[in-house]
Amino acid sequence: MTYEGVLKKMQTELEDTVQYYWLLPGEFVHVNTLLERQLKLELLGFQCLNCGLDRPIFRQGFCRSCFFEIPQAGDWIMRPELSQAHLGKEDRDLEYEKKMQLQPHIVYLANSSNVKVGVTRKSQVPTRWIDQGAHEAIGIVETPNRYLAGITEVALKEHVSDKTNWRKMLTNNAKDEDLFAWRERLKTYIPEEALPYFLASTKETNISFPVLKYPEKVNSLNLDKTPEYSGKLMGIKGQYLIFEDNTVFNIRSNEGYVVRLSLA
Ligand SMILES: [Zn+2]
Repeated sequence: MTYEGVLKKMQTELEDTVQYYWLLPGEFVHVNTLLERQLKLELLGFQCLNCGLDRPIFRQGFCRSCFFEIPQAGDWIMRPELSQAHLGKEDRDLEYEKKMQLQPHIVYLANSSNVKVGVTRKSQVPTRWIDQGAHEAIGIVETPNRYLAGITEVALKEHVSDKTNWRKMLTNNAKDEDLFAWRERLKTYIPEEALPYFLASTKETNISFPVLKYPEKVNSLNLDKTPEYSGKLMGIKGQYLIFEDNTVFNIRSNEGYVVRLSLA
């Protein structure tokens, strides 16, 4: 069986074990069913997720010129504290920014390799946690816009990491933490403006990933250097495919790459 198409992050469903789906033109692949199968990945070209042209991908699935122009790649995406739609100030396209920023956001703690703080739109819970490979996560505040969530994250990251160590996440080298206790400890550092939005009643979400065997060390597959790769799929965690030979492939950072996927 062969599938061809542009890579986009896998769709997920939180069940007892996370279920992963690949949406390709005319195809809907349930990736969990490919476990223990021999897969071959071949790079065919690129397709910018915005303009659709076959140009090298710069960041977030976009070619360089789209990345620096389109509202979907504004600085406030990666740095929520720069959001200004609540002030009516435009970055690249005020209508788009209002639609995305002026909606409920969650500041959360997630544990994938260590406890980290993050921000996401409320509609992206628990998707965002699954995409990060977090085995446990909890909300801290639910704000009415992205800016308030952003300044809360900036304040909290003085006291807790805001980064995931993906190598540690993929070797399953993380201990369980009492995120509820972490949350209570961090509460005192929440900015006054955001404090009214502290989530009073909430509990930890636990997530289990379909991994048959974790790698001992990880080698990341880079399609630019290795345009053809074959291996036996042994797990899926976050947006990574994990192969038997310790190779891992980050679907997220290969968005916009056009590939052929063949099953032996
Ligand atoms: Zn483009």
